Amino acid sequence: PVRRREVVHLMNKHLPRPAVAILRDLGKVGDELELPVYAVGGFVRDLLLGAENDDIDVSVEGDGILFAEAVATRMGCRVKSHAKFGTAVIVFPDGLKVDVASTRLEYYETPGALPTVERSSLKMDLYRRDFTINTLAVKLNAEGFGTLIDYFGAYRDLREKTIRVLHNLSFVEDPTRVFRAIRFEQRLGFPISRHTENLIKNAVKMGFLDKLGGRRLLNELVLILREREPVKAILRMSGLELLHFIHPDLALTSDTLRVLDEVKKVITWFELLYLGEKVETWVVYFLALTSSLPDEGFWGTCTRLSVSEHYREKLIDMRIQGEQVLEIMARRAGRREGVRCSDIYFWLRGLSPEVLLYIMAKTRSDEVRRYVSLYVTRLRSVVTHITGNDLKVLGIPSGPRYREILDQVLSARLNGEATTREDEMRIVRSLAAPA
Ligand code: ATP
Repeated sequence: PVRRREVVHLMNKHLPRPAVAILRDLGKVGDELELPVYAVGGFVRDLLLGAENDDIDVSVEGDGILFAEAVATRMGCRVKSHAKFGTAVIVFPDGLKVDVASTRLEYYETPGALPTVERSSLKMDLYRRDFTINTLAVKLNAEGFGTLIDYFGAYRDLREKTIRVLHNLSFVEDPTRVFRAIRFEQRLGFPISRHTENLIKNAVKMGFLDKLGGRRLLNELVLILREREPVKAILRMSGLELLHFIHPDLALTSDTLRVLDEVKKVITWFELLYLGEKVETWVVYFLALTSSLPDEGFWGTCTRLSVSEHYREKLIDMRIQGEQVLEIMARRAGRREGVRCSDIYFWLRGLSPEVLLYIMAKTRSDEVRRYVSLYVTRLRSVVTHITGNDLKVLGIPSGPRYREILDQVLSARLNGEATTREDEMRIVRSLAAPA
């Protein structure tokens, strides 16, 4: 249905020029080695959709490693091969990466025997994929460059905007596909087909998801939480009764949903500030999603997801920091005595942007939200004119007292009680004077 010329046109339109040149070069190396070479999977899907995708996946009908090494020699790039899997990654001097796979078929001749690895056709390779929309291939060899290969009705499903598995055992074979289906559904705005949804429900009912390892589940969850609209995907997970596979007590209460919706808003707000700071948005969503679990539940969720010990400590710290500061701020916000800028500063000092955003999303108080906003946009960057060196010059003996004095000076600055260097020095002298 899509002609070769149209595919080439889409490449020229949507891909950066060097990427198109590289695709042609890959085809030429294939020609030299007499190997059929194809761009496959998500890359082709996104090409036809006109969506950005920098991950080029290539399948070689034959020895992909030999191919990758030949590309590296001819085009001056680095290559990393995994002989066991017949895969390689080619890294071009400008940083562009191409993943290469050999089409191959693994099967067990007798039960319990080691798998026999055999080279097979492109069609078999594509048949093992998750959804029809990911089974497209585009030929890269010079003869026929741009030919679209569609064995499983992928183009039709792209046009019909539907997520469909290739066969009925797909989710039994690999339960991570349940989460991938939801991720693609939300990202592309393509509903999961009725039959595929029934297969998901069935896999859930039969408990196939219990077999899913923590690491793989975590990986899929993080990918979902990194998408632009994770809340809809979380609602879908809840609707398909997937959340309890993450933790038996994890449920989407109205308060959790409120916090998740707020996370979306505060992340948008933060991004619009253009502070150039990187935020792990998935962490903020993760804290929000688990916010109504008690501490043991949160701990249990991290264990189920095989979060590494180091990262688990980090997540738990973030959660505790957030809760503690929320409590302090909520207590003070309601009171009559004014909250000073220095109070806000010292409550929030040192917290990561993820925790700050979590606090903003979790609180129900507009006043608390204003505190954090003020801290992020203004207070955080306030510094004093004087430094420890000035204290030394004044002959103040060094020690923890330095920190105290400098913090007091900073407080005065934050509260507008000191503006110039002279103001600050006056404060230092009064503080350092013997009682
Ligand atoms: P993204 O834009 O999220 O990277 P993608 O389609 O490129 O989407 P990848 O996770 O990079 O997704 O996977 C590359 C290809 O490998 C996919 O197009 C898909 O066909 C295949 N694939 C990935 N995971 C699975 C899986 N669990 N089962 C079957 N095929 C998979």
